[in-house]
Amino acid sequence: MIRFTPEQERFRQAVARFVDVEVAPAAEGIDERAEFPAKLFRRIGELGYLGLRYPEAYGGADADMVTYCLFAEELARGSLSVAAAAAMQSLMGTHFIYKYGSEALRQKYLVPALRGELIATFALTEPNAGSDVAGITTRAERRGDHWVLRGGKTWVTNAPVADVLTVAAKTSGERGMQNIALFLLDRVTMRGITLGRSIEKMSVRASVTGEILLADVEVPAEHLLGGETGGAEKIGSILSEIRVMTAAISVGLARAAYQAALAYARERQAFGKPIVEHQAIGFKLADMLTQLHAATLMTYQAAGRLDAGLPLAREAAMAKLFASEMAVRVTDEAARIFASYGLAMEYPIQRYFRDARFLLPGGGTSEILRVVIGHDLDWDRGDAFGAG
Ligand SMILES: Cc1cc2nc3c(=O)[nH]c(=O)nc-3n(C[C@H](O)[C@H](O)[C@H](O)COP(=O)(O)OP(=O)(O)OC[C@H]3O[C@@H](n4cnc5c(N)ncnc54)[C@H](O)[C@@H]3O)c2cc1C
Repeated sequence: MIRFTPEQERFRQAVARFVDVEVAPAAEGIDERAEFPAKLFRRIGELGYLGLRYPEAYGGADADMVTYCLFAEELARGSLSVAAAAAMQSLMGTHFIYKYGSEALRQKYLVPALRGELIATFALTEPNAGSDVAGITTRAERRGDHWVLRGGKTWVTNAPVADVLTVAAKTSGERGMQNIALFLLDRVTMRGITLGRSIEKMSVRASVTGEILLADVEVPAEHLLGGETGGAEKIGSILSEIRVMTAAISVGLARAAYQAALAYARERQAFGKPIVEHQAIGFKLADMLTQLHAATLMTYQAAGRLDAGLPLAREAAMAKLFASEMAVRVTDEAARIFASYGLAMEYPIQRYFRDARFLLPGGGTSEILRVVIGHDLDWDRGDAFGAG
């Protein structure tokens, strides 16, 4: 059983009201136009949601991971695109600035980013290196008091609208992970950063995604976030949090699909009765709800472990693997319950079905997660499924 505190319950209700009134009604339009939801994004900043995981000194709320997941889940119920854009801003896009940036960088970039006044993103993936992080080739060379970055990134969330980017680059030529470093790039003040192609997607269309080209970008030395090496470990240190967040947005999306399918099944008549009364449809809904319930438990158990300071690499990987695959299955089943209307653009079911695909690669593919879980096959570990 998940026990949320009264404060967490109230918080969830407040986010749910915001989602019902402001996010859900906008979801269809921004998806159709593949438009970054600029107004909503600023609103989410104004409401303080982008700073949930940061200290109050920087405009944050110092909230725990369970609370953050409630926010992410509710937001994804209204629009997975908005949830994806907000998650990038409130975790990966700002995390390294807070963790490794100087006080001046935090004031200049983190504080406005948490208010939603500046858009931040994280760029690791390259055309020839996705899961295989060791294969990135973007290079950073030290020249006196600055660094020069050259290379290209792709599949960067918010890239077409981003003001600042945390970019992973290699500080020497060898393959491997040891020589990866993180740099904070400012698209306004640094020359040589250009936008490549925006990627037309079938999934999370309003979370705009694109390429970033770096042509001899001069980066001041203080924009190196946390040393010339160790970038892979820095990224790894927030991966579990990213995976738990991805599990939470999977739960949110699947809830929306389940609720829509249940309402439709109660209303739609076939052979003289509501289709929910045909056992085949009732069983579908029962399976959907069971999987949704299991994913919810796994998500909040992993979030609880994070809050309790317990190891969670395995639990986070399992939660993300199960919840994202669950969302793909549940949105598929929901579309089947709608039959022809599951294909109609006037119903949100087709969007849920398309959006679910985004959950598979983000935060590690299902195959990579199985590798992570398989590396940790210590099935006797007593605390694996314990409270937390
Ligand atoms: C909408 C969206 C937004 C994104 N946003 C960002 C972002 O903001 N910043 C960013 O840096 N990246 C981002 N990504 C990129 C994402 O992180 C990568 O796509 C992901 O890491 C997978 O990389 P890839 O697509 O190159 O697949 P590949 O790594 O080429 O994998 C191809 C296939 O091979 C499998 N595979 C690879 N290696 C192994 C292995 N060792 N064992 C078993 N199977 C394996 C994979 O599971 C997959 O099925 C985004 C992606 C999407 C779809």
